[in-house]
Amino acid sequence: TEKTMEKIVALCKNRGFVFPGSEIYGGLANSWDYGPLGVEMKNNVKRAWWKKFVQENPYNVGLDSAILMNPQVWVASGHVSTFNDPLIDCKACKMRHRADKLVESYVQEHGMDVNVEAMTQEELVAFIRDNQVPCPGCGKSDFTDIRKFNLMFKTHQGVTEDTANEVYLRPETAQGIFVNFPAIQRTTRRKLPFGVCQIGKSFRNEITPGNFIFRIREFEQMELEFFCKPDTDLEWFQYWRTYCHDWLKGLNIKEENLRLRDHEPEELSFYSKATTDFEYLFPFGWGELWGVADRTNYDLTQHQEHSGQDLTYFDQEKNEHYIPYVVEPSLGADRMTLALLVEAYDEEVVDAEKNDVRTVMRFHPAIAPFKCAVLPLSKKLSEKAREIQAELSKDWMVDFDDTGSIGKRYRREDEIGTPYCITVDFDTVGDADKAGDNCVTVRDRDTMEQVRLPIDQLKSYLAEKLAY
Ligand code: ATP
Repeated sequence: TEKTMEKIVALCKNRGFVFPGSEIYGGLANSWDYGPLGVEMKNNVKRAWWKKFVQENPYNVGLDSAILMNPQVWVASGHVSTFNDPLIDCKACKMRHRADKLVESYVQEHGMDVNVEAMTQEELVAFIRDNQVPCPGCGKSDFTDIRKFNLMFKTHQGVTEDTANEVYLRPETAQGIFVNFPAIQRTTRRKLPFGVCQIGKSFRNEITPGNFIFRIREFEQMELEFFCKPDTDLEWFQYWRTYCHDWLKGLNIKEENLRLRDHEPEELSFYSKATTDFEYLFPFGWGELWGVADRTNYDLTQHQEHSGQDLTYFDQEKNEHYIPYVVEPSLGADRMTLALLVEAYDEEVVDAEKNDVRTVMRFHPAIAPFKCAVLPLSKKLSEKAREIQAELSKDWMVDFDDTGSIGKRYRREDEIGTPYCITVDFDTVGDADKAGDNCVTVRDRDTMEQVRLPIDQLKSYLAEKLAY
């Protein structure tokens, strides 16, 4: 009963969580489509985040900014220069280099006849490895792979395809928040500290996509940029670190599958004071789920310089203008969905002698695609069952299944993680001789226990069980 990616990918495909993209055309590498159950689940993930980070949090507001932005945004943010270069890091001293520059100076020094400009990324890596090109910082030759090379997707706005109208698909949602900072502060009349949340698509031309929906080129982010007074950033960093941790625990992610990895000083980006990666234990190993970073006043300062606009905040108490500091928790909706799929997956031995094993997705009720399923024992009971489904559907996503044995139907619902099955039987409706009891049987996915309940108590019973 081992959890493997193969099993999870197969379940996702067979039950309609996630399909390979463009499959009838042979697919498109590493693109995935969320099916009927997957879209419900991912929407639930995003809703659960929004509830905790916007609705219930006293400091935060929401935003939905455009994917296409003025290209200057990406110059200011550093994405145009940094993310277009073939970067590699020295594993020994953590110094970052441009791979082409390293090769260039090596070639010059050794009087070699090599056209570095014409070299591909793979050729650069191979050259560095074969020649043991040393790190200018420490002299060792042990580098990471090249990263962030040509990471942004480019397209053209307008009818002509020249460089004048090139625009990028955003590689993160964060910059949409930064450029709207003054407008949000003005319209909400917020004082520091306050935060802005956004959920939306981001695009990165990843060099090594893979592991199902862990690393994809088109993905969704759930980002918060939290603006605070200078010198309070490290306190707020701790606040959000704990807040994020609590949200994960609240969705039943087990502590043993979670690791909070604080970056060492030499690992930090040059503008960051503190960073914690929340890592999850996927079947393929630990992988970053959530990055929480103290970004100081770097981003707003950059945008102030490049836009020429005043992005300072006026502190009335101190009677002074300054650029706020920022703490950023950044989470991928797809990675979070994958983590919850992995966490939920279970194979339970129901009867060892009969070799009876059930696959059950033990989703938190807030995450489960369907909150309950209505199952009439016989097709003759479908009318009553449809009536119950219609009523419950006003509040929740409710599945309906009237085919196959009841045991098979329970197992199907277990496999898609439906927390409650509601069975309508002949006692429910009665017949000519005996009045119906107007009760249904409610089965719990995890314990498989059943209770009999009057139909008119069903809603309040479920509401209590499903509350989030
Ligand atoms: P990685 O090191 O895995 O490439 P990153 O450090 O570049 O991630 P950030 O820029 O901090 O990632 O992005 C914040 C979050 O967005 C990540 O923690 C992750 O959940 C999500 N994310 C980033 N890139 C991808 C991707 N290609 N596919 C899916 N989710 C992603």
